[in-house]
Amino acid sequence: MKDTIVRAIAADGCIRMFAASTTNLVEEARKIHNCAPTAAAALGRTLTAALMMGVSLKGEENVTLKIVGDGPIGNITAVADSQGNVKGYISNPEVYLPAEDGKMPVGKAVGKGTLYVIKDLKMREPYTGSIQLVSGEIAEDLTKYFLESEQIPSAVSLGILAKPEGVVSSGGYIIQMLPGSTDEMAEKISNTLYKLGSVSRAIEDGKDATEIVKYILKDYEPEILAEISARYNCECSRGKLSQVLLGLGENELLDILQKEGKVEARCHFCNSTYTFDREEIMKMLEDARS
Ligand SMILES: [Zn+2]
Repeated sequence: MKDTIVRAIAADGCIRMFAASTTNLVEEARKIHNCAPTAAAALGRTLTAALMMGVSLKGEENVTLKIVGDGPIGNITAVADSQGNVKGYISNPEVYLPAEDGKMPVGKAVGKGTLYVIKDLKMREPYTGSIQLVSGEIAEDLTKYFLESEQIPSAVSLGILAKPEGVVSSGGYIIQMLPGSTDEMAEKISNTLYKLGSVSRAIEDGKDATEIVKYILKDYEPEILAEISARYNCECSRGKLSQVLLGLGENELLDILQKEGKVEARCHFCNSTYTFDREEIMKMLEDARS
């Protein structure tokens, strides 16, 4: 199944929905970061959520989800744009906690802390919203974020089935009740969600994002607005990493150069390593000065 993000409305625009199937790109993220299953699930949920939030942006805009928890996993970051590109990283990818009641204890691995949502809308200042984590399960935390920071009652589900040998299925959905929607709609949809069961299971059974949307919104004439293919994509380059190095400051760079004879920069998002020799560093510093 291809990785896809679907954007839809229903009930004459009173209900908005996003759904995602992300098995391949979460597997790619797992491989890049060498994630154990719990870390793969946590990172996968964050990547999937960021993608669904990204597709409501325009052009060059992007959204960053940052989860800063006190659990063993540390921080999780995911950045997505409006075109279905996503990348991310996690502080401690080796975290593997045993399943509890058949569920991956992502909340326990994330711990208590804060969820930040940073939207770069290409204005002077990015928009930043934050909430205290409810459970660290990420979907519940986002539900609270949408209600408190964006005043939109939402149902969020993120499901990753990850095994030590790889990601079996991954996806999610966000359903938002906009002005004009009724309690009856919310109740009927929540019954349908119950019948659907876990989103990772639905995807494992072969339902794609469009089918999930059509199933959940079946009583309210869903209209698919966009089907966007999604991918894990890091656009880092030597040029970008050299800017990051310059940010360390001249003294720090010269210090590393003296100790190591070269300077290495690693991209957090894709784990590519860029090596700069003495000549290149000297030229970078010279160019920065002029
Ligand atoms: Zn990169």
